[in-house]
Amino acid sequence: MIEETKTAPISTGIKGKYELVIGLEVHAQLLTNSKMYTSDSTAYGNLPNTNISVLTLGHPGTLPKVNKRAVEFAIRMGLACNCEITRRNIFSRKNYFYPDLPKGYQITQDKGPICVGGEVPITLGNGENKTVTLNRIHMEEDAGKSMHLAGETDTLVDFNRAGVPLIEIVTEPDMRSSEEAYQFLTEIKKLVRYLDICDGNMEEGSLRCDANISIMPKGSKTLGKKVEVKNMNSFRNVARAIEHEFDRQILLYENGEDIVSETRTFDATSGTTSSMRTKEDLNDYRYFPEPDLSPVVVSEEWLENIQNELPPLPRELFEKFVRDYDLPTYDAGVLTDSKEIALYFEALCQATQNYKAASNWLMGPVKSYLNELTLHIDDFPIKPEGIASLILLVDEGKVSFSVASQKIYPEMLKSAGRSPLEIAQSLNLIQDSDEDSIKPIIEQVLEESSGKVAEYRAGKKGLLGMFMGQVMKRSKGKADPKVANKILIELLEK
Ligand code: ADP
Ligand code: MG
Repeated sequence: MIEETKTAPISTGIKGKYELVIGLEVHAQLLTNSKMYTSDSTAYGNLPNTNISVLTLGHPGTLPKVNKRAVEFAIRMGLACNCEITRRNIFSRKNYFYPDLPKGYQITQDKGPICVGGEVPITLGNGENKTVTLNRIHMEEDAGKSMHLAGETDTLVDFNRAGVPLIEIVTEPDMRSSEEAYQFLTEIKKLVRYLDICDGNMEEGSLRCDANISIMPKGSKTLGKKVEVKNMNSFRNVARAIEHEFDRQILLYENGEDIVSETRTFDATSGTTSSMRTKEDLNDYRYFPEPDLSPVVVSEEWLENIQNELPPLPRELFEKFVRDYDLPTYDAGVLTDSKEIALYFEALCQATQNYKAASNWLMGPVKSYLNELTLHIDDFPIKPEGIASLILLVDEGKVSFSVASQKIYPEMLKSAGRSPLEIAQSLNLIQDSDEDSIKPIIEQVLEESSGKVAEYRAGKKGLLGMFMGQVMKRSKGKADPKVANKILIELLEK
């Protein structure tokens, strides 16, 4: 039963009367080698139904065991989000029948999630900061996958994914725009990647998000009835689904119709949502404590170890880059997008003190090289020290930035061991900063274009660039532009 709802655009005047309220539920697939409650492999892309055993299949008499590493990963995320960590964890059975659920129930955490509360700071496009409060993060297991192949009458089922560990991050209904939801997801993706607990790939399903959306009249304190939207496979589509729901719900409200609490599915092609199921056919999951698992107790010592081994977090590095390296927030944002780039930058800043130049090199020539070859920074051939000596060469006036980036840098990429100075010398690129050798070149240029010199002196100052071009050409690009510029002006203004 699917009913399409197309929505006409709503005027901003009417939209302005309503507040949009969003709470997100994000599932992150954990990067453990084995499953949440069995030792079956989690490897992705294996032949269907090869990562399974009687345990994954839930045969009678089999007993689950909790994967310690998965618990550790959940705690890492909890610590990174300032959650309170539950010390005695029990698991529950969530019972429902579905073909991709071999046991007939999912082992999850219902009461007493491992991480309680917490918060995730986000930064909006206009620079405004906001904190999204978390309700909880709990551990659970994934279901298998039903496959409806084209042209087949039967549905096939692959249990490889059944039992893969997940954490579910549940926010409070805290967000007020699709942009806030988008930024929250961006932050979560960054966090799980920095923490090495999930690859954060939404297109491949390792990060999944359900959006709860409601509206209320501006100024109201009472939340409206929420609609839960599923099946968005990118951050952008989450934002699109939210925008669509905002309009759809306003239209219903304005027409005096009921907003039904229901689950809706998003269609990326039309950008609309349609009803999947309503509260009436809400499942009764008959939650009860999992009798086959004893409680998992998080000791003080274990917690401390996890805390001590926590990597630097993106926000800490962002703040450090702005504070200690005096970088613009834009640079700090780009550089902390990935942990590996941020750590490379940190290493680079140990080797040079020209932090802005370091940032420019990373965001410019280094990133474009990586993008071009779709390489990871770990495979980047030049060590931070190499880039630092290149920066020094420019700062000392031995070569210009353009010579450094266009002539020396490509050579360093080809033979990583060579020093930039050695390359500059062997290619005869060292810039001439010697006034005595530059001056005669300039004098000659001015002599040959006495007409232009007269025009310059009569006020046509724009000719300076043309003279500089001549000088650089005559010196085969080796005259130090700063020195040449200074002499040129001296001679012209004489
Ligand atoms: P349920 O019991 O229906 O699962 P929860 O209270 O557990 O509802 O909340 C599930 C998610 O829905 C949370 O992310 C929460 O922030 C969000 N949510 C709850 N109420 C609203 C609302 N009125 N509008 C938007 N989101 C909401
Ligand atoms: Mg709930």
